[in-house]
Amino acid sequence: MIGFECVDCSRHHALGEVEYVCPQCGGNLDVLYDYDRVAHGFTRSALQQDRNFTIWRYRPLLPIDAASIPPPLTVGWTPIYESKSLAEQFGVKQLLLKDDGRNPTASFKDRPSALAVVKAREAGARIITTASSGNAGVALAGMCASVGLHSVVFVPANAPPAKITQLQIYGATVVLVEGSYDDAYDLCLEAGRAFGWYQRSTGYNPFMTEGKKTAAFEICEQLNWEAPDKVFVGVGDGCIIGGLWKGFSEMRQLGLIESAPQMIGVQSERAPAIVDACNGDGVARERPAQTIADSINVGKPRDAVKAIRAIRQSGGRAVAVTDESILSSIGSLARGTGVFAEPAAAAAFAGFIRLCETGVIGRDQRVLLMLTGNGLKDIAAAARTVRPGIKVRPDLSALKEAMTAVGFRIPRA
Ligand SMILES: *Cc1c(COP(=O)(O)O)cnc(C)c1O
Ligand SMILES: [Zn+2]
Repeated sequence: MIGFECVDCSRHHALGEVEYVCPQCGGNLDVLYDYDRVAHGFTRSALQQDRNFTIWRYRPLLPIDAASIPPPLTVGWTPIYESKSLAEQFGVKQLLLKDDGRNPTASFKDRPSALAVVKAREAGARIITTASSGNAGVALAGMCASVGLHSVVFVPANAPPAKITQLQIYGATVVLVEGSYDDAYDLCLEAGRAFGWYQRSTGYNPFMTEGKKTAAFEICEQLNWEAPDKVFVGVGDGCIIGGLWKGFSEMRQLGLIESAPQMIGVQSERAPAIVDACNGDGVARERPAQTIADSINVGKPRDAVKAIRAIRQSGGRAVAVTDESILSSIGSLARGTGVFAEPAAAAAFAGFIRLCETGVIGRDQRVLLMLTGNGLKDIAAAARTVRPGIKVRPDLSALKEAMTAVGFRIPRA
Protein backbone atom coordinates (compact mmCIF):
# COMPACT_ATOMS: atom_id res chain seq x y z
CA MET A 1 0.00 0.00 0.00
CA ILE A 2 1.46 3.33 -1.05
CA GLY A 3 -1.36 5.82 -0.58
CA PHE A 4 -4.90 6.80 -1.47
CA GLU A 5 -6.72 8.41 -4.38
CA CYS A 6 -10.04 10.22 -4.01
CA VAL A 7 -12.80 8.87 -6.26
CA ASP A 8 -14.38 12.33 -6.48
CA CYS A 9 -11.55 14.86 -6.88
CA SER A 10 -8.77 12.40 -7.90
CA ARG A 11 -6.30 13.95 -5.43
CA HIS A 12 -3.64 11.62 -4.05
CA HIS A 13 -3.02 11.37 -0.33
CA ALA A 14 -0.11 9.87 1.57
CA LEU A 15 -0.74 7.09 4.09
CA GLY A 16 -0.41 9.27 7.18
CA GLU A 17 -2.60 12.07 5.83
CA VAL A 18 -5.87 10.22 5.85
CA GLU A 19 -8.24 8.98 8.48
CA TYR A 20 -11.15 7.67 6.37
CA VAL A 21 -12.24 9.95 3.52
CA CYS A 22 -10.63 12.62 1.32
CA PRO A 23 -9.37 15.44 3.56
CA GLN A 24 -10.06 17.91 0.73
CA CYS A 25 -13.53 17.05 -0.53
CA GLY A 26 -14.89 14.29 1.72
CA GLY A 27 -15.02 11.80 -1.17
CA ASN A 28 -14.38 8.08 -0.73
CA LEU A 29 -10.86 6.80 -1.25
CA ASP A 30 -9.25 4.08 -3.32
CA VAL A 31 -6.29 2.29 -1.76
CA LEU A 32 -3.22 2.39 -4.03
CA TYR A 33 -0.48 -0.25 -4.27
CA ASP A 34 2.89 -0.51 -5.95
CA TYR A 35 1.85 -3.28 -8.34
CA ASP A 36 5.37 -3.79 -9.71
CA ARG A 37 6.52 -4.68 -6.22
CA VAL A 38 3.47 -6.83 -5.51
CA ALA A 39 3.93 -8.75 -8.77
CA HIS A 40 7.19 -10.39 -7.57
CA GLY A 41 5.69 -12.47 -4.81
CA PHE A 42 2.16 -12.68 -6.16
CA THR A 43 2.16 -15.33 -8.88
CA ARG A 44 0.00 -18.29 -9.80
CA SER A 45 2.67 -20.72 -8.65
CA ALA A 46 3.23 -18.95 -5.31
CA LEU A 47 -0.50 -19.15 -4.67
CA GLN A 48 -0.58 -22.80 -5.71
CA GLN A 49 1.93 -23.61 -2.94
CA ASP A 50 -0.01 -21.68 -0.30
CA ARG A 51 -1.94 -23.90 2.11
CA ASN A 52 -3.69 -20.97 3.79
CA PHE A 53 -7.22 -21.19 2.37
CA THR A 54 -8.58 -17.91 3.76
CA ILE A 55 -8.64 -14.32 2.53
CA TRP A 56 -5.19 -13.90 4.10
CA ARG A 57 -3.55 -15.87 1.28
CA TYR A 58 -3.83 -12.56 -0.62
CA ARG A 59 -1.86 -10.60 1.97
CA PRO A 60 0.54 -9.00 -0.56
CA LEU A 61 -2.51 -7.20 -1.97
CA LEU A 62 -4.12 -6.34 1.36
CA PRO A 63 -3.42 -3.10 3.25
CA ILE A 64 -2.13 -4.58 6.50
CA ASP A 65 1.15 -4.34 8.39
CA ALA A 66 3.57 -7.26 8.13
CA ALA A 67 3.34 -7.81 11.89
CA SER A 68 -0.46 -7.81 12.09
CA ILE A 69 -2.19 -10.99 13.18
CA PRO A 70 -5.59 -11.56 11.57
CA PRO A 71 -8.61 -12.77 13.58
CA PRO A 72 -8.63 -16.56 13.99
CA LEU A 73 -11.98 -17.27 12.29
CA THR A 74 -11.78 -18.81 8.83
CA VAL A 75 -12.95 -16.14 6.41
CA GLY A 76 -13.21 -16.64 2.67
CA TRP A 77 -12.29 -19.39 0.22
CA THR A 78 -15.98 -20.20 0.03
CA PRO A 79 -17.04 -22.86 -2.46
CA ILE A 80 -18.07 -22.27 -6.07
CA TYR A 81 -20.72 -24.71 -7.29
CA GLU A 82 -21.62 -25.34 -10.91
CA SER A 83 -25.28 -25.93 -11.71
CA LYS A 84 -25.53 -27.83 -14.98
CA SER A 85 -29.31 -28.09 -14.74
CA LEU A 86 -29.89 -24.35 -14.26
CA ALA A 87 -27.37 -23.56 -17.02
CA GLU A 88 -29.37 -25.80 -19.34
CA GLN A 89 -32.68 -24.39 -18.19
CA PHE A 90 -31.63 -20.79 -18.84
CA GLY A 91 -29.52 -21.47 -21.93
CA VAL A 92 -26.06 -20.39 -20.81
CA LYS A 93 -22.74 -22.20 -21.15
CA GLN A 94 -22.02 -22.31 -17.44
CA LEU A 95 -23.81 -21.17 -14.28
CA LEU A 96 -21.67 -20.85 -11.16
CA LEU A 97 -22.68 -19.99 -7.60
CA LYS A 98 -20.22 -18.64 -5.04
CA ASP A 99 -21.71 -19.40 -1.65
CA ASP A 100 -20.52 -16.70 0.73
CA GLY A 101 -23.21 -17.69 3.18
CA ARG A 102 -20.57 -20.24 4.24
CA ASN A 103 -18.51 -17.59 6.05
CA PRO A 104 -18.25 -17.67 9.89
CA THR A 105 -21.18 -15.33 10.53
CA ALA A 106 -22.96 -16.49 7.35
CA SER A 107 -22.42 -13.55 5.02
CA PHE A 108 -19.94 -11.91 2.63
CA LYS A 109 -19.47 -9.15 5.22
CA ASP A 110 -17.01 -11.29 7.15
CA ARG A 111 -14.43 -10.36 4.51
CA PRO A 112 -14.43 -6.57 5.12
CA SER A 113 -15.14 -6.92 8.83
CA ALA A 114 -12.11 -9.15 9.38
CA LEU A 115 -10.00 -6.45 7.75
CA ALA A 116 -11.67 -3.75 9.86
CA VAL A 117 -10.61 -5.58 13.01
CA VAL A 118 -6.99 -5.75 11.82
CA LYS A 119 -6.95 -2.03 10.93
CA ALA A 120 -8.59 -1.07 14.23
CA ARG A 121 -5.98 -3.02 16.18
CA GLU A 122 -3.19 -1.40 14.16
CA ALA A 123 -4.70 1.96 15.14
CA GLY A 124 -4.81 0.91 18.80
CA ALA A 125 -8.61 1.07 18.98
CA ARG A 126 -10.61 -0.93 21.55
CA ILE A 127 -14.10 -0.13 20.26
CA ILE A 128 -15.25 -0.47 16.65
CA THR A 129 -18.53 0.85 15.38
CA THR A 130 -20.52 0.34 12.22
CA ALA A 131 -23.85 1.11 10.68
CA SER A 132 -25.46 -1.94 9.20
CA SER A 133 -28.66 -3.33 7.76
CA GLY A 134 -27.62 -6.40 9.76
CA ASN A 135 -24.88 -8.48 8.17
CA ALA A 136 -22.03 -5.97 8.34
CA GLY A 137 -22.69 -5.47 12.04
CA VAL A 138 -23.02 -9.19 12.71
CA ALA A 139 -19.74 -9.83 10.93
CA LEU A 140 -18.03 -7.07 12.88
CA ALA A 141 -19.47 -8.37 16.16
CA GLY A 142 -18.27 -11.91 15.42
CA MET A 143 -14.79 -10.81 14.38
CA CYS A 144 -14.52 -8.56 17.45
CA ALA A 145 -15.60 -11.42 19.70
CA SER A 146 -12.86 -13.59 18.22
CA VAL A 147 -10.13 -11.16 19.31
CA GLY A 148 -11.66 -9.61 22.44
CA LEU A 149 -12.57 -6.19 21.04
CA HIS A 150 -15.91 -4.48 21.55
CA SER A 151 -18.34 -3.46 18.83
CA VAL A 152 -21.16 -0.90 18.82
CA VAL A 153 -23.56 -1.63 15.99
CA PHE A 154 -26.28 0.67 14.63
CA VAL A 155 -29.08 -1.18 12.84
CA PRO A 156 -32.60 -0.20 11.84
CA ALA A 157 -34.95 -1.41 14.57
CA ASN A 158 -36.82 -3.53 12.01
CA ALA A 159 -33.77 -5.59 10.96
CA PRO A 160 -34.51 -9.34 10.62
CA PRO A 161 -34.69 -10.94 14.09
CA ALA A 162 -32.02 -13.55 13.31
CA LYS A 163 -29.49 -10.81 12.57
CA ILE A 164 -30.34 -8.90 15.76
CA THR A 165 -29.99 -12.09 17.80
CA GLN A 166 -26.63 -12.80 16.17
CA LEU A 167 -25.47 -9.31 17.18
CA GLN A 168 -26.61 -9.80 20.76
CA ILE A 169 -25.12 -13.25 21.11
CA TYR A 170 -21.69 -12.05 19.93
CA GLY A 171 -21.81 -9.41 22.66
CA ALA A 172 -22.13 -6.28 20.55
CA THR A 173 -23.72 -3.18 21.98
CA VAL A 174 -26.78 -3.12 19.74
CA VAL A 175 -28.33 0.25 18.91
CA LEU A 176 -31.78 -0.26 17.36
CA VAL A 177 -32.36 2.98 15.48
CA GLU A 178 -35.99 3.99 15.04
CA GLY A 179 -35.61 4.76 11.38
CA SER A 180 -34.06 3.41 8.20
CA TYR A 181 -30.59 2.06 7.50
CA ASP A 182 -29.80 5.49 6.07
CA ASP A 183 -30.76 7.07 9.42
CA ALA A 184 -28.69 4.49 11.32
CA TYR A 185 -25.74 5.32 9.08
CA ASP A 186 -25.81 9.05 9.78
CA LEU A 187 -26.14 8.49 13.53
CA CYS A 188 -23.27 5.98 13.55
CA LEU A 189 -20.89 8.39 11.78
CA GLU A 190 -21.84 11.15 14.20
CA ALA A 191 -21.42 8.91 17.24
CA GLY A 192 -18.11 7.52 15.99
CA ARG A 193 -16.71 11.03 15.65
CA ALA A 194 -18.12 12.20 18.98
CA PHE A 195 -16.85 9.20 20.98
CA GLY A 196 -13.64 8.41 19.10
CA TRP A 197 -14.58 4.88 18.05
CA TYR A 198 -12.91 3.17 15.10
CA GLN A 199 -15.33 3.50 12.19
CA ARG A 200 -16.02 0.49 9.97
CA SER A 201 -19.04 1.82 8.09
CA THR A 202 -19.26 0.84 4.43
CA GLY A 203 -18.50 3.60 1.94
CA TYR A 204 -16.57 5.59 4.54
CA ASN A 205 -13.77 3.29 5.67
CA PRO A 206 -11.65 2.82 2.51
CA PHE A 207 -10.39 -0.60 3.61
CA MET A 208 -13.78 -2.28 3.29
CA THR A 209 -13.39 -2.38 -0.51
CA GLU A 210 -10.06 -4.15 0.06
CA GLY A 211 -11.71 -6.88 2.12
CA LYS A 212 -14.46 -7.29 -0.44
CA LYS A 213 -12.12 -7.65 -3.39
CA THR A 214 -10.80 -10.95 -1.96
CA ALA A 215 -13.89 -12.71 -3.35
CA ALA A 216 -12.83 -11.70 -6.87
CA PHE A 217 -9.33 -13.07 -6.26
CA GLU A 218 -10.85 -16.36 -5.14
CA ILE A 219 -13.14 -16.52 -8.16
CA CYS A 220 -10.14 -16.14 -10.50
CA GLU A 221 -8.07 -18.70 -8.66
CA GLN A 222 -10.86 -21.24 -8.11
CA LEU A 223 -11.79 -21.08 -11.80
CA ASN A 224 -8.18 -21.71 -12.78
CA TRP A 225 -7.60 -18.09 -13.88
CA GLU A 226 -10.48 -18.07 -16.36
CA ALA A 227 -12.79 -15.40 -14.96
CA PRO A 228 -16.50 -15.71 -15.82
CA ASP A 229 -18.06 -13.47 -18.48
CA LYS A 230 -20.63 -11.99 -16.12
CA VAL A 231 -20.88 -11.64 -12.34
CA PHE A 232 -24.27 -10.87 -10.79
CA VAL A 233 -24.47 -9.34 -7.32
CA GLY A 234 -27.08 -7.60 -5.19
CA VAL A 235 -26.31 -3.91 -4.68
CA GLY A 236 -27.16 -1.68 -1.73
CA ASP A 237 -24.43 0.83 -0.85
CA GLY A 238 -22.40 -0.45 -3.79
CA CYS A 239 -19.28 -1.47 -1.89
CA ILE A 240 -19.40 -5.18 -2.81
CA ILE A 241 -19.70 -4.61 -6.55
CA GLY A 242 -17.02 -1.91 -6.39
CA GLY A 243 -14.75 -4.22 -4.38
CA LEU A 244 -15.26 -7.18 -6.72
CA TRP A 245 -14.41 -4.96 -9.68
CA LYS A 246 -11.25 -3.71 -7.97
CA GLY A 247 -10.23 -7.32 -7.37
CA PHE A 248 -10.77 -8.37 -10.99
CA SER A 249 -8.99 -5.23 -12.23
CA GLU A 250 -5.99 -5.96 -10.03
CA MET A 251 -5.83 -9.57 -11.22
CA ARG A 252 -5.84 -8.34 -14.81
CA GLN A 253 -3.23 -5.68 -14.09
CA LEU A 254 -0.95 -8.32 -12.58
CA GLY A 255 -1.43 -10.51 -15.66
CA LEU A 256 -3.12 -13.29 -13.68
CA ILE A 257 -6.28 -13.18 -15.81
CA GLU A 258 -6.68 -12.06 -19.40
CA SER A 259 -10.08 -10.46 -19.24
CA ALA A 260 -12.30 -9.32 -16.40
CA PRO A 261 -16.01 -10.05 -16.16
CA GLN A 262 -18.86 -7.65 -16.77
CA MET A 263 -20.35 -6.62 -13.45
CA ILE A 264 -24.13 -6.82 -13.22
CA GLY A 265 -25.58 -4.96 -10.24
CA VAL A 266 -29.03 -6.12 -9.14
CA GLN A 267 -31.39 -4.00 -7.08
CA SER A 268 -35.03 -4.15 -6.12
CA GLU A 269 -37.38 -1.80 -7.94
CA ARG A 270 -38.28 -0.71 -4.43
CA ALA A 271 -34.73 0.56 -3.69
CA PRO A 272 -33.31 1.53 -7.10
CA ALA A 273 -30.80 4.35 -6.49
CA ILE A 274 -27.90 2.73 -8.38
CA VAL A 275 -30.07 1.40 -11.22
CA ASP A 276 -31.54 4.86 -11.73
CA ALA A 277 -28.08 6.45 -11.72
CA CYS A 278 -26.75 3.94 -14.28
CA ASN A 279 -29.76 4.42 -16.54
CA GLY A 280 -29.51 8.20 -16.12
CA ASP A 281 -26.59 10.59 -15.82
CA GLY A 282 -24.39 8.30 -13.73
CA VAL A 283 -24.85 10.27 -10.51
CA ALA A 284 -26.67 8.58 -7.63
CA ARG A 285 -29.42 10.48 -5.87
CA GLU A 286 -31.47 9.54 -2.86
CA ARG A 287 -34.39 7.27 -3.77
CA PRO A 288 -37.09 5.52 -1.75
CA ALA A 289 -35.96 2.29 -0.04
CA GLN A 290 -38.73 -0.17 0.81
CA THR A 291 -37.60 -3.58 -0.37
CA ILE A 292 -38.06 -6.82 1.53
CA ALA A 293 -34.39 -7.58 0.74
CA ASP A 294 -33.14 -5.78 3.85
CA SER A 295 -29.43 -6.01 2.97
CA ILE A 296 -29.97 -3.92 -0.16
CA ASN A 297 -32.63 -1.64 1.30
CA VAL A 298 -30.56 1.51 0.84
CA GLY A 299 -31.91 4.93 -0.13
CA LYS A 300 -28.61 6.85 -0.12
CA PRO A 301 -25.90 4.51 -1.44
CA ARG A 302 -22.63 5.39 0.29
CA ASP A 303 -20.30 3.83 -2.26
CA ALA A 304 -22.16 4.83 -5.40
CA VAL A 305 -19.18 6.24 -7.28
CA LYS A 306 -17.26 2.96 -7.00
CA ALA A 307 -20.36 0.93 -7.90
CA ILE A 308 -21.25 2.95 -10.99
CA ARG A 309 -17.61 2.94 -12.09
CA ALA A 310 -17.52 -0.86 -11.75
CA ILE A 311 -20.64 -1.29 -13.87
CA ARG A 312 -19.56 1.18 -16.56
CA GLN A 313 -15.86 0.27 -16.80
CA SER A 314 -16.64 -3.43 -17.01
CA GLY A 315 -19.27 -2.95 -19.70
CA GLY A 316 -21.87 -4.35 -17.35
CA ARG A 317 -25.25 -3.02 -16.36
CA ALA A 318 -27.61 -2.43 -13.48
CA VAL A 319 -30.92 -4.27 -13.39
CA ALA A 320 -33.99 -3.80 -11.22
CA VAL A 321 -36.18 -6.73 -10.20
CA THR A 322 -39.47 -6.94 -8.32
CA ASP A 323 -39.65 -8.01 -4.70
CA GLU A 324 -41.93 -10.85 -5.83
CA SER A 325 -39.21 -12.18 -8.13
CA ILE A 326 -36.62 -11.89 -5.35
CA LEU A 327 -38.85 -13.91 -3.04
CA SER A 328 -39.58 -16.60 -5.62
CA SER A 329 -35.91 -16.83 -6.61
CA ILE A 330 -35.02 -17.86 -3.03
CA GLY A 331 -37.02 -21.05 -3.46
CA SER A 332 -36.11 -21.78 -7.07
CA LEU A 333 -32.42 -21.37 -6.25
CA ALA A 334 -32.68 -23.59 -3.18
CA ARG A 335 -34.65 -26.32 -5.00
CA GLY A 336 -32.44 -26.10 -8.09
CA THR A 337 -29.06 -26.13 -6.35
CA GLY A 338 -29.36 -26.89 -2.63
CA VAL A 339 -28.11 -23.41 -1.71
CA PHE A 340 -30.38 -21.37 0.58
CA ALA A 341 -29.75 -17.65 0.14
CA GLU A 342 -31.18 -14.62 1.93
CA PRO A 343 -33.28 -12.22 -0.18
CA ALA A 344 -30.46 -9.80 -1.11
CA ALA A 345 -28.32 -12.75 -2.22
CA ALA A 346 -31.12 -14.43 -4.17
CA ALA A 347 -31.62 -11.08 -5.91
CA ALA A 348 -28.55 -11.98 -8.00
CA PHE A 349 -30.45 -15.00 -9.31
CA ALA A 350 -33.58 -12.91 -9.90
CA GLY A 351 -31.49 -10.44 -11.93
CA PHE A 352 -29.99 -13.28 -13.94
CA ILE A 353 -33.45 -14.69 -14.72
CA ARG A 354 -34.61 -11.21 -15.72
CA LEU A 355 -31.78 -10.71 -18.18
CA CYS A 356 -32.26 -14.21 -19.60
CA GLU A 357 -35.92 -13.44 -20.19
CA THR A 358 -35.05 -10.24 -22.04
CA GLY A 359 -32.55 -12.12 -24.20
CA VAL A 360 -29.52 -10.16 -23.03
CA ILE A 361 -27.36 -13.17 -22.12
CA GLY A 362 -25.86 -15.20 -24.95
CA ARG A 363 -25.62 -19.00 -24.99
CA ASP A 364 -21.82 -18.80 -24.89
CA GLN A 365 -21.78 -17.02 -21.52
CA ARG A 366 -20.19 -18.20 -18.29
CA VAL A 367 -22.13 -16.58 -15.47
CA LEU A 368 -21.36 -16.40 -11.76
CA LEU A 369 -23.90 -15.47 -9.11
CA MET A 370 -22.34 -13.95 -6.00
CA LEU A 371 -24.50 -15.33 -3.18
CA THR A 372 -23.77 -12.90 -0.38
CA GLY A 373 -25.74 -14.23 2.59
CA ASN A 374 -27.28 -17.37 4.05
CA GLY A 375 -31.03 -17.93 3.92
CA LEU A 376 -31.28 -18.61 7.66
CA LYS A 377 -30.61 -14.90 8.18
CA ASP A 378 -34.20 -14.10 7.22
CA ILE A 379 -36.61 -16.99 7.71
CA ALA A 380 -39.70 -14.79 7.59
CA ALA A 381 -39.05 -13.73 4.00
CA ALA A 382 -38.42 -17.27 2.81
CA ALA A 383 -41.41 -18.63 4.73
CA ARG A 384 -43.73 -16.44 2.68
CA THR A 385 -43.01 -18.54 -0.40
CA VAL A 386 -43.19 -22.14 0.80
CA ARG A 387 -45.89 -24.80 0.89
CA PRO A 388 -47.13 -25.81 4.32
CA GLY A 389 -45.93 -29.13 5.74
CA ILE A 390 -48.21 -32.16 6.00
CA LYS A 391 -49.84 -32.22 9.41
CA VAL A 392 -50.68 -35.72 10.54
CA ARG A 393 -51.49 -37.90 13.53
CA PRO A 394 -48.66 -40.38 14.22
CA ASP A 395 -50.43 -43.15 12.29
CA LEU A 396 -49.50 -44.76 8.93
CA SER A 397 -52.95 -44.86 7.38
CA ALA A 398 -53.54 -41.23 8.39
CA LEU A 399 -50.19 -40.43 6.74
CA LYS A 400 -51.23 -42.22 3.56
CA GLU A 401 -54.48 -40.31 3.41
CA ALA A 402 -52.84 -36.96 4.10
CA MET A 403 -50.09 -37.49 1.52
CA THR A 404 -52.58 -38.57 -1.13
CA ALA A 405 -54.62 -35.47 -0.32
CA VAL A 406 -51.66 -33.21 -1.21
CA GLY A 407 -51.11 -35.10 -4.47
CA PHE A 408 -48.14 -37.25 -3.44
CA ARG A 409 -48.25 -40.53 -5.38
CA ILE A 410 -47.51 -43.38 -3.00
CA PRO A 411 -45.94 -46.34 -4.77
CA ARG A 412 -47.29 -49.81 -3.99
CA ALA A 413 -45.16 -51.78 -1.59
C1 LIG B 1 -24.33 -5.87 2.30
C2 LIG B 1 -25.00 -6.89 1.47
C3 LIG B 1 -25.27 -6.67 0.11
C4 LIG B 1 -24.99 -5.38 -0.61
O1 LIG B 1 -23.68 -4.90 -0.51
P1 LIG B 1 -23.37 -3.36 -0.73
O2 LIG B 1 -21.92 -3.23 -0.53
O3 LIG B 1 -24.18 -2.60 0.29
O4 LIG B 1 -23.82 -3.02 -2.12
C5 LIG B 1 -25.84 -7.70 -0.62
N1 LIG B 1 -26.19 -8.87 -0.02
C6 LIG B 1 -25.96 -9.10 1.28
C7 LIG B 1 -26.38 -10.40 1.87
C8 LIG B 1 -25.36 -8.12 2.06
O5 LIG B 1 -25.18 -8.36 3.38
ZN1 LIG C 1 -11.39 14.40 -2.84
